[in-house]
Amino acid sequence: MRIVRFKTGEDKPPLYGIQSEDHVTVMVASPFEGIIVGTSEKYPLDQVRLLCPTVPTKIVAVGLNYRDHARELNMEVPQEPLLFLKPPSSVVGPGDVIKLPEMSQQVDYEAELAIVIGQRAKDVPVENADAYILGYTCLNDVTARDLQRKDVQFTRSKGFDTFCPIGPWIETEIEPSDLEIRCILNGEVRQDSRTSQLIHSPQSLLSFISRIMTLEPGDVIATGTPKGIGQLAPGDEVVVSIGGIGELINTVER
Ligand code: MG
Repeated sequence: MRIVRFKTGEDKPPLYGIQSEDHVTVMVASPFEGIIVGTSEKYPLDQVRLLCPTVPTKIVAVGLNYRDHARELNMEVPQEPLLFLKPPSSVVGPGDVIKLPEMSQQVDYEAELAIVIGQRAKDVPVENADAYILGYTCLNDVTARDLQRKDVQFTRSKGFDTFCPIGPWIETEIEPSDLEIRCILNGEVRQDSRTSQLIHSPQSLLSFISRIMTLEPGDVIATGTPKGIGQLAPGDEVVVSIGGIGELINTVER
């Protein structure tokens, strides 16, 4: 099932829906209330604008979770997941613009598999983790690489407005352990890996994070990026493509 959040007009409120071939069926309640029921209200897909499919209270991201990416940065693979937060204000949706800030001269893309939390999670054993996952989507962990090197921690480099595109939908029926993950910049494949290369699995990340902070319904875990990171420039089109999920497409402006 593909869960979308969408608008039918700029002045209309956002709705949750289930996307089928060429239309979207409106859901009675948000998918985080545990009720997934379609109504008879439907819209053709070409008459809606898709939004980020969730409204997270936080985005918990993981650094260095693919061995090949740690190698390209000349960094040791950490023993435990290396966590940082991206603010909700950095979130944009499919088709939205990534704005390059004046403070940075090097803004990079990072294609990532994202977990969307379905119900409140605290101290979850790894074997129960799947029950707390609503589904998976694509995420671009946009990063001001020059500021990341300059600052001791990642708040500035990862936190600019528009630095967290998420979407296009939440895929609820997918087994995440071996999906193709790619970043395509202006039609050219720049990152090409598989989620089987993840050091820490989605389930172990959820369990680990839930022992630190309560994960709320709608929260997002960004699972890390494979090797092949590179810079964005004004006018670029950047695509995060994950097998079995879909494509998250954004453009870049200064
Ligand atoms: Mg990242």
